Amino acid sequence: MRAMVLDAPRTPLQLRDLATPQPRRGQVLLRIHACGLCRTDLHVVDGELAHPKLPLVIGHQVVGTVTQCGEGVERLRDGDRVGVPWLGWTCGECRYCTSGRENLCERARFTGYDIDGGYAENAVADERFCFPIPAGYPDLQAAPLLCAGLIGYRSLRMAGDAERLGLYGFGASAHIVVQVARHQGRRVFAFTRDGDAASQRFAMSLGAEWAGDAMQPGPEPLDAAIIFAPAGELVPAALRATAAGGTVVCAGIHMSDIPAFPYEILWGERVLRSVANLTRRDGEEFLALAPRIPVRTEVRPFPLDDANAALDTLRRGDVQGAAVLAVDLAVA
Ligand SMILES: [Zn+2]
Ligand SMILES: [Zn+2]
Repeated sequence: MRAMVLDAPRTPLQLRDLATPQPRRGQVLLRIHACGLCRTDLHVVDGELAHPKLPLVIGHQVVGTVTQCGEGVERLRDGDRVGVPWLGWTCGECRYCTSGRENLCERARFTGYDIDGGYAENAVADERFCFPIPAGYPDLQAAPLLCAGLIGYRSLRMAGDAERLGLYGFGASAHIVVQVARHQGRRVFAFTRDGDAASQRFAMSLGAEWAGDAMQPGPEPLDAAIIFAPAGELVPAALRATAAGGTVVCAGIHMSDIPAFPYEILWGERVLRSVANLTRRDGEEFLALAPRIPVRTEVRPFPLDDANAALDTLRRGDVQGAAVLAVDLAVA
């Protein structure tokens, strides 16, 4: 199979011919149709996450069709179209796994980090961590649901019942979350780089009622803010923009250092928290909800062997919506 391989952090992915992996017990082999790019992929390639498997096939928003079932596979069959998210395996027995918090499992293994992922023509996945893809979503449009959508949804849940919601960084996640938030009757304020007129227009077109500079407070206080951009200076900015009792959620896996800030901007029972990974329950809930809204994803496709250029485009913030590798699209 063709795969884009990371040999070492801070080096470009290399196009290689690898042996097609064989599904072990409980695993399925997938023919990959599409794989979404995520900011986390950049953190892995840039060496900002400490211990990737190497060499590694990155990518954790995988859409594919089952072509072979390993021994003991019960839920999936050949021909099923499924999605593979970031959470690739959990132990099932630790304190976290047995209390509905498998996202925090200390032995968890992640797709495109501990396990080879979706920048390839094939991958194997544990059937218990594959989600059926809702009908009506073509491969390309389905891919961003699997992380941008799913972790965005978890972050939105952590924002509680906030009516006035601020989204910091208007990339793949925010363009999905704004649709869910509007469906839930919330008011959305989009915070972008100062002068980023294209992102601001995009946010307004998806239902934000205001869009402007992230380093300044919005037109009225927020009840919650979700920070998608990996920039620590947004934390004090979001706290300043948030009303007493509000929550600021950091949705990314990595962020630059947060500058010191005065206690008074946290005072007033403001809550500052992170969101880590996802649970299978998040996936089931979100993938059931997305077609009912319906969430529509805007995607920019790239060929598999253009993955480095695609990552650079994402790094520059030049993607409206989500960048997706088109690997081998199923006939709709
Ligand atoms: Zn991701
Ligand atoms: Zn566990």
